[in-house]
Amino acid sequence: MARLLRDETIVATWKEFFVNHCKSDIETIALSYPDIRSLLIDYWDIDKANPELAEQILNQPYKTIFNAEEALKDIDVSTLNEKLCIHFRVFNLPNTISIRDLRAKHAGKLIAVEGLVKRATYVMPAITISAFQCQKCGAVIKIEQEEDILKEPSECYEDQGGCGRISSFKLLTSHSLFIDNQKIELQENPDNLRGSEQPQKITILLEDDLVGRIFPGDRVQISGICHTMQRRQANFRLKTFYFAIDAIHIEINETAYEEIDITEEDEKEILKASKDPDIYNKMRQSIAPSIYGMEIEKGALTLQLFSGVPKIMPDGTKVRADIHVLLVGDPGTAKSQLLKYMHRLAPRSILASGSASTKAGLTATAVRDEKFSEGQWVLEAGALVLANNGFACIDEFDKMSEEDRGSMHQAMAQQEISIAKAGINATLKSKCSVLAAANPKQGRFDPFIPLHEQINMRPALISRFDLIFPILDESNREKDIALSAHILRTHKGSELAENISKCDKSEYSEEQRDSFMENIKPIYEPEFLRKYVAYAKRKIFPVMTDEALEIIQARYVDFRSNSKESIPFTPRQLEGYVRLAEASARVRLSNKATIDDAKRAISIVNKYLTRVGMDRETGKIDIDIIETGISHSQQKRMKTILGIIATLCESSESGAAIEDIIHKAEIEGIDSGRTEEAVKHMKERKELFVTPTGGYKINV
Ligand code: ADP
Ligand code: MG
Repeated sequence: MARLLRDETIVATWKEFFVNHCKSDIETIALSYPDIRSLLIDYWDIDKANPELAEQILNQPYKTIFNAEEALKDIDVSTLNEKLCIHFRVFNLPNTISIRDLRAKHAGKLIAVEGLVKRATYVMPAITISAFQCQKCGAVIKIEQEEDILKEPSECYEDQGGCGRISSFKLLTSHSLFIDNQKIELQENPDNLRGSEQPQKITILLEDDLVGRIFPGDRVQISGICHTMQRRQANFRLKTFYFAIDAIHIEINETAYEEIDITEEDEKEILKASKDPDIYNKMRQSIAPSIYGMEIEKGALTLQLFSGVPKIMPDGTKVRADIHVLLVGDPGTAKSQLLKYMHRLAPRSILASGSASTKAGLTATAVRDEKFSEGQWVLEAGALVLANNGFACIDEFDKMSEEDRGSMHQAMAQQEISIAKAGINATLKSKCSVLAAANPKQGRFDPFIPLHEQINMRPALISRFDLIFPILDESNREKDIALSAHILRTHKGSELAENISKCDKSEYSEEQRDSFMENIKPIYEPEFLRKYVAYAKRKIFPVMTDEALEIIQARYVDFRSNSKESIPFTPRQLEGYVRLAEASARVRLSNKATIDDAKRAISIVNKYLTRVGMDRETGKIDIDIIETGISHSQQKRMKTILGIIATLCESSESGAAIEDIIHKAEIEGIDSGRTEEAVKHMKERKELFVTPTGGYKINV
């Protein structure tokens, strides 16, 4: 940036503007100065008062803003003797440019960009005016620092009272002037990307009171001056540059789905659709119509799109509103396909794979980067943080890295991620719905083996999902016929469409095409659904009716007391019911969650529990299987067997022999297979160990 000179005409114009329009704002700032030291101005206020000046800000921002700040220094504020040094910050610019559309013509112009914060350095002080001491005469020479590289005096300047000689200089940090600096990397909104385009990024420079306010994962709108920074390779300066933006104003988007435009027309259509008594089924059928079957799963995904009502309890505890869904199943059952579809459908969604090796992975991390931050550690957001306030679709969930595994727990339950690494201590938000897909370790899902043994995930993490659906590739003649017919028809339909649109003289008719496409045409187009969901999440906050509360409570109590021993069915499941019932009310755009909504929630949870939480021995639903991987009856049995081993060990130095354990257990009514299974399990869990002579002893 070239040295800026005060231009008295511009200063005078600004002064007039400030006196007429911002006098009271400036006085308010003066009261809390220097804690508050920025004057925020809506671009359109300037445009209304002086269109020429507004135009000038856009085209010559450095000069215009410099003079505006000069004018601010001149304004008399009665309450203060000291001179104010206020930043001039303008927002609501007319020209928002997409990051991928930045071109050379934008350099030097004031523009607005929107995006997601991908990385942030920590706040660093940078010198703006440096004080150097001449090692020959001791004079202190001040130099304004405007470049990236620190500039030293070339001689001991006489006009600053120096000796005029060429000398060596020592930097006096205590006499230099510092300003806070921070660099962030902004990535374009994933919603605006189509297909598998790579999101583009841009570096944003923040100064003074703008630093430390935004974090990776935030969605922001930034006004700033676009400029170019020279690229370097080793010590050479290259002739190509990259874009960067000097931010002058930042705004964090907090409203739900602000970026989705809903016109009056749209609103009418949304309200009309919401009156349809069959809206839920129609929505469900509109989800991935090319995928056959999976009615229950698609129903769950419909509710997941809408999610429950975010709440803050009077004691400050936040309750998660997002519904987490896990699909586990056989290969080739369209799990990945379904995820991709949901990614296209859900507003603000991020699609990631647990096995993909980006540095930040699924959660977040601190990384070192030569290009972006000169080798410093920076905080980088992963998929769940980027999906904050949105929807995360994660394929190959079971293949995530160890680091992610460590923080995933907190990310899903508390919806935040803490990072303590390389001097960075930060907590990032990850408030999003998670739709994950996992493959069983053995390749195929076995309904008779506890879930956590089949997928490479700890039970505690598995239990963070509200709904878990095993997807089995069962062969069943009827289903095979229907599924293959569906897939083949959709293929033929698409072939016809291609043929008709690409061949010069197609022998097929559009009616033929439509007849094949019929069953894969969604009732509601994805574009409409996105708007519908955004509308519901913005405007609808259902309250449970008393009847709805009652039946959920009855259901819960019933579960808990269904058996003589209490069946562990935890309050976590209770919250799940509430979230699903609220989501179900939102589907109808209703502010009341009725008994029907509660019933729908109960029915969906039931379907999932009977598939994964059933205790094979008792035929009852047992949440323990999901939470700990061991059913209640298994636990009881292990306790009995531990007792037997303890008694046997009292009379034997070399531990309890397996034959003796089996024998004694049979007397207690446990068959030999179960005993062996339990002993093996306890050995794995290091509750038992084997003595050199082959006996079992209890680990204490
Ligand atoms: P997964 O991720 O479960 O291993 P994919 O999503 O990669 O499976 O699906 C494999 C292929 O099989 C896809 O092309 C998908 O369209 C097809 N397919 C599998 N099941 C169905 C189904 N129920 N309906 C339509 N297509 C299906
Ligand atoms: Mg897959």
